[in-house]
Amino acid sequence: MKVSIIGTGYVGLVTGACLADKGHQIICVDVDEEKINKINHTALPFYEPGLGELLNKNIGVRLTATTDLHQSVVETDITFITVGTPFNGKEIDLTYLKDAATQIGQALKGKNTYHLVVLKSTVVPGTTDEVVRPILETASGRKAGVDFGVGMNPEFLTEGEAVQDFMFPDRIIFGGIDDQSRHVLEELYIPFAGAERIRTNNKTAEMIKYTSNALLATMISFSNELGNLCAALRGVDVVDVMRGLHSSKYLSPVLTNGDRITPPIAAFLWAGCGFGGSCLPKDVKALIAHGEKARMPMRLLDAVIRVNEDQPQQVFSLLKRHFPSFKGIRIAVLGLAFRPDTDDMRESPAIPIITGLLAHEAEIQAYDPVAKQEAAKVFGDSKITLCDSMAEVIRDVQAIVLVTRWEEFRSLPKLLEDLDPQPVVIDGRRMLDKSSIAKYEGIGL
Ligand code: NAD
Repeated sequence: MKVSIIGTGYVGLVTGACLADKGHQIICVDVDEEKINKINHTALPFYEPGLGELLNKNIGVRLTATTDLHQSVVETDITFITVGTPFNGKEIDLTYLKDAATQIGQALKGKNTYHLVVLKSTVVPGTTDEVVRPILETASGRKAGVDFGVGMNPEFLTEGEAVQDFMFPDRIIFGGIDDQSRHVLEELYIPFAGAERIRTNNKTAEMIKYTSNALLATMISFSNELGNLCAALRGVDVVDVMRGLHSSKYLSPVLTNGDRITPPIAAFLWAGCGFGGSCLPKDVKALIAHGEKARMPMRLLDAVIRVNEDQPQQVFSLLKRHFPSFKGIRIAVLGLAFRPDTDDMRESPAIPIITGLLAHEAEIQAYDPVAKQEAAKVFGDSKITLCDSMAEVIRDVQAIVLVTRWEEFRSLPKLLEDLDPQPVVIDGRRMLDKSSIAKYEGIGL
């Protein structure tokens, strides 16, 4: 099928490359000319494992990239909207979405074949039907459900595992204003066999996405709050507590042969220095704000956000055990991206941690396997020293704060062996063996 994708960010480009690889004809569209040029030269605008290979294979064959939205819509049968929907402190900002919808509507004006417009961006329930649909109708002068269809197909990919997630989805949600919209969407996804398929209306599709992210965020804040209590109680280690929790038959069912299944959701039940990224914080905040509008205060989710925003304080408290003042203390930060295997720093816990330490006049040097360029954009070159390796970042520091769960960081105990004096290590992810480090401090310990 011929598909245009409006917004070539993490979601748009992964969607485009994966659909192209499954045999569809894809045009990726973005307002950012530099991004489009990069893609057409098979250079990735961001780090994502496996995406480069897909791009190399499909660019110029089944995948093209352009800034010409109008022509792309005219030349295709389905248009996905994958633009950003940031939270502006009060609600999700629909500026990019409205802009894209208006331009798509204008392009639909001249089309006389059926076209399906599908929202993939994360939006609060009601947005597709109450905001996007009317814009499309006004801008095109045509009627939704007659001349064109409108669908909602939320995306569940995780950055760092995005290609795998898209190629082997656990579920595909087919939201639509009518059967025809859902049917066309289902045809597109035929090559993705095996996934659970849920057919529903647009508003429910939107709600499924928020509900999924709200649960994950809740599990993380739950673990962090309990971890903080373990630390306050003294003599209780949250890692052992969580191991005990994970061994429950509800979290790791025992098979008849005695083996246990560890479901991936268990990964969200570990204490750490908080969640970040472009989705969890903004989606939970958007849902809270939307609940307020619906006169349904989201008290639990409100607490989830508050726990998360306070979590960097745990790192400062652990450091304070060793340094009454941070002024002039040289601290290495390991990990800048919000999670491993991505260079995305949006809402990364590294930001409040580093900003807080800088505010107390600590001297920061930091290392992330792939996020150096992003970090330079976030902090500017002058405020912190960005290093190129673990060995470099830990040189001559008094403390090390581990923020991101990169596998590479497991080699820290070995690298520390030759250092004298030993720096204090604050394990913000509880990923290191506490007995392998001379001066170890961990969240929830
Ligand atoms: P992003 O910021 O990486 O990409 C958005 C892109 O849209 C940018 O390249 C921007 O230039 C482009 N754009 C903005 N207005 C445009 C217009 N009028 N025409 C063409 N292009 C335009 O965003 P993202 O991380 O890919 O997220 C997109 C949406 O998907 C958001 O709603 C997000 O919540 C949701 N989502 C993201 C993820 C994730 O892990 N990143 C996962 C699931 C869902």
